[in-house]
Amino acid sequence: MFENLSEKLEGAIRTLKGSNRITEVNVANTIKEIRRALLDADVNYKVAKDFTDSVKEKALGQKIQIAVEPGQMLVKIVYDELTQLMGGTKQDINLSGNPAIVLMAGLQGSGKTTFSAKLAHYLKKQNKRVLLVACDVYRPAAIEQLKTLGQQLDIEVYSEPENKNPVEIAQHAVEYAKQNKYQVVIVDTAGRLAVDEEMMDEISRLKETLQPSETLFVVDAMTGQDAVNTAKAFYDRIQYDGVVLTKLDGDARGGAALSIRAVVDRPIKFIGTGEKVGDLDVFHPDRMASRILGMGDVVSLVERAQQIFDEKEAERINKKLRQNQFDFQDFYSQIQQIKKMGNVKDLLSMLPGVGKMVKDLDIDDDAFVPIEAIIQSMTPQERENPALLLTHRTAASRKQRIAKGSGRSVQEVNNLLKQFEQMQKMIKKMNQMEGSDGGRLRRM
Ligand code: GDP
Repeated sequence: MFENLSEKLEGAIRTLKGSNRITEVNVANTIKEIRRALLDADVNYKVAKDFTDSVKEKALGQKIQIAVEPGQMLVKIVYDELTQLMGGTKQDINLSGNPAIVLMAGLQGSGKTTFSAKLAHYLKKQNKRVLLVACDVYRPAAIEQLKTLGQQLDIEVYSEPENKNPVEIAQHAVEYAKQNKYQVVIVDTAGRLAVDEEMMDEISRLKETLQPSETLFVVDAMTGQDAVNTAKAFYDRIQYDGVVLTKLDGDARGGAALSIRAVVDRPIKFIGTGEKVGDLDVFHPDRMASRILGMGDVVSLVERAQQIFDEKEAERINKKLRQNQFDFQDFYSQIQQIKKMGNVKDLLSMLPGVGKMVKDLDIDDDAFVPIEAIIQSMTPQERENPALLLTHRTAASRKQRIAKGSGRSVQEVNNLLKQFEQMQKMIKKMNQMEGSDGGRLRRM
C-alpha cells in the first residue's frame, strides 16, 4: 500500500537536498511535486491543495536550525501534516451499552461481511462475548458467508432465513443477545452495488431502531475518489461514527485514506489489509504517515507480533534452543507462528526503508508450502531427532521416502536439511558464546 505515493513524496523532498536553506524559490518546486504525488495517489484536489498550502506556509515559517537539513525539516513537516490530515490521533470504537451494538453500513462488496468477522475475532481475543447478526435479507449467500466465517472463528451467528425484515431480525438478535449475556452485537447489513434510496432507507431505519453505540461505514480503498463520494453520501444520511477502509493491501493508491477525513468529519478507525480474519489493523494516523514517508511502522509490527505470539510456546522453544535441542517439530511450529502474522510482503513493508525495496518483488505467501510438506512427511521420530536424517546410516532411504511423500525432489529435501544443519550450528555457536562470557550477550 502507498508505495507509489511514498516513492514520489521522497522524490519530491529529495529535490531540496543540497540546499542549506528553505526559500520561497526552492520550496516552490518541491511543493509542486508533493501536490502532484498526492493527486496521482487519487487524493481529492481540494484536499491536496490545502495540504500543500499548509506545508509551504510551515516550511517558510521555520526558523533556520543549523543542525537540521531543509530536507529533513520538510520530512517532519509533511509527516505532521499527513498525521493531521488523517485525523491526528487514533480513535477507539465505542462499545458502551449492554450489549454494545455495532452496525455496519456500506456498498455491496466493500468488505462488510469480512470486516464483521474480523472485528468479532478481534473483540473475542479481548475476551468479549460477541454475537454476529446476518441482516442481508436479499442475498442468502451473504448469510451463509457469515455463518461459515462464524464457524471458523467459533463465534455464534444469529440469522432468520425466512424473515425478510432486517429491522425485526436485528431487534430479535439484540433480545437474544441480552438473554444469552452477549456483550457485543455486530450487525452485518445488506449493501447495494451503488447508493440507492431503498438501501439508505433501510440502514437509517436500522440505525434509528437499534441506536447502536457505533455505526461503521465500510469502504473499499481501491475505489479511489468514489470511496470519498460514497462516504459523503452515507454520511449525509446516517452520520456514522467511524470509517473502515478495506483492501489497502491491494493496488489502492491510498488517496481515500488521505481524503476521507477532510471530506467527512469522521475518523478512520480500522483498516483491512487482507482477506484473512487476522488482517485487521487499528488505524493510527501517525503510524500511517510514517509508513507513507517510508519511515516504516515498527510499532505496529511489534504489536501484531505480540498479539499473535504464544508466550508459552516462545519460552518452550527458547529453552530448546539453549539446550541445542531445536528440532523439526519446533521449526514447523515457528513457521505456523510467522504465517499467522499475515502477508509476508505486508510485514516486510513495515520495516523502515524496506517497503520500497519489496514493492516489485514477487514474494510468495506460499513460500512455506514445500517446507511444510517436507516436514509433514517426516515421521515423529525424525522430526524430534534430526540426526536420523543427517547422519544416520538410514538417512538416504529416509530422505527418498520423504521426497516421495511430500511430492518434492530429494534435492529440495537435501536443501532444507542443509539449511537446518547450518541453523543448528549457528545456535550452538551462539550458546557457546553466551556460556563463555557469563551471559553478557543474552542481556544485550
Ligand atoms: P460485503 O458485500 O460488503 O459483505 O463484502 P465481503 O465481505 O463479501 O467482501 C467482498 C470481497 O472482498 C471478498 O472477496 C473479500 O474476501 C474481499 N475483502 C474484504 N476485505 C478485504 C481486504 O481487506 N483485503 C482484500 N484483499 N480483500 C478483502
